[in-house]
Amino acid sequence: MIEVQDIQKSPLAENPVISQMILNNHEQVVFCNDNDTGLKAIIAIHNTILGPSLGGTRMWAYNNEMEALTDVLRLSRGMTYKSAVAGLNLGGGKAVIIGDSKTQKNEALMRRFGKFVNSLSGKYITAEDVGVSTKDMEYIKMETDFVSGLPVNMGGSGDPSPVTAYGVYLSMKASAKEKWGNDSLAGKKVVVQGIGHVGESLVKHLVKEGAKLSIFDINEERLKAIAKETGAEVITDGSKIYDMDMDIYAPCALGATVNTDTLNRLKCAIICGAANNQLADENVHGKMVIEKNILYAPDFVVNAGGIINVYYELEGYNRERAMAHAEKIYDTTLNIFKVSKEQNIPTYMAANRLAEKRLSDIGKIKVSF
Ligand code: NAD
Repeated sequence: MIEVQDIQKSPLAENPVISQMILNNHEQVVFCNDNDTGLKAIIAIHNTILGPSLGGTRMWAYNNEMEALTDVLRLSRGMTYKSAVAGLNLGGGKAVIIGDSKTQKNEALMRRFGKFVNSLSGKYITAEDVGVSTKDMEYIKMETDFVSGLPVNMGGSGDPSPVTAYGVYLSMKASAKEKWGNDSLAGKKVVVQGIGHVGESLVKHLVKEGAKLSIFDINEERLKAIAKETGAEVITDGSKIYDMDMDIYAPCALGATVNTDTLNRLKCAIICGAANNQLADENVHGKMVIEKNILYAPDFVVNAGGIINVYYELEGYNRERAMAHAEKIYDTTLNIFKVSKEQNIPTYMAANRLAEKRLSDIGKIKVSF
C-alpha cells in the first residue's frame, strides 16, 4: 500500500489542489467555469464507497478560489462521515458556487451549474445549502435529476428540519441517559441558541417532555412569538448565554460556539445541538470538554436527521420510514459514548472512528466484485 507520506513527497503533491486532495483522500474535484453565465463553481466528491456522493450546493462570496476549495473539501469530507455514521448508503460530496448570492444569481447561472452536476452522471447528487434557494433548485432541476431535498410542490420531501430536530431530541435523551443514568429530560434546564427551523421544532419536543427551556435568537420577533407559543423563557442578552445556569447547551444557530472562551464559561453537563461544526477546533475543544466534565454529543451524529430525510426522498419518499431511521440516532449516540469510554478517546473521535470503520467494512465487500 502506498503511504500518504510518500505521495506527499511526490512532485504532484506540490500542486496546491492535489496536495489538499491527498490530505483527506478526496476522490474527485471538478472545477466548473462558464464565461457566458459567469459561473465559477467547484464540486468535490470525497468518497463514494457507500454510494453516490450527496451534499448541498453553497453559494458564497469567497475571497479567492483557494478559500472556496478549502471549504468544499472540508464540507464534502464531513458529508462522508455524517452519512457513514447514520448508516446511509451515501457518499460525501458538496459544491460551492463562488459569488454573491444576492447579486450574482440568475436562471442561466443556476441551469449551467445543473448541467455540470448532470455531467457527473449521478456520482454527485446536489441539494440546497446556504445562499441557494428553492427557486434556484427549480432551475438546477431543469437540467439534472441528480437533485434531492426538494420542496413538496416539486415532488420532494419538503423541509427536513422536523426530522433533524427529532434526531437532536433523541440524541439529547441518549446524552442524558449517559450522564445521569436516565433519559428523561423532565426538569432539565436546556438553553437553545437559535430558534430557526430546527430550533423551534426541538423546543416543542422538549417542552412536551417537561424540560425547562430558555431560548435565544437574534431575530427578536421570532423569539418572542415562539416563547409565547411554548412558554419558554426568553434570554434577552445573547452574550450571557455561556454564563447561564443550565444542564444542557443546545447550539442550533452557528458553528464554532464551543471554543476556549465559551468552554471557560459554560457550566453545563451536556452539549447537544443541531449546528454544524460546533467545536472551533476538534483536537483542542474535543479534549477540553472532557476536562470540563461536559459530555459532547458529536454534531454530525446529532443532526443527521436532515440527510436521512433527503436519502429517503431518493428512494421514493415516505416520512414514516425517514422518522424510523432517524430514531436510530438514539442508539448511535449511545454507541459513540461507549466507544469513547472503551477506547479512552474524545466523543468526536469515537464518531469519526465509527464512520471510518463502516467505510472500511463496506469497502471490503465492494472490491469482491
Ligand atoms: P435557520 O436558518 O432556520 O435558523 C437559524 C436561526 O439561528 C435563525 O433563526 C437565526 O436568526 C438564528 N441565529 C443566527 N445567528 C444567531 C446567533 N448569533 N445567536 C442566536 N441565534 C442566531 O437554520 P436551521 O435550519 O434551523 O438550522 C440550524 C443549524 O442546524 C444550522 O447550523 C444548520 O446548518 C444546522 N443543520 C440544519 C439541518 C436542517 O435540517 N435544517 C440539518 C443539519 C444541520
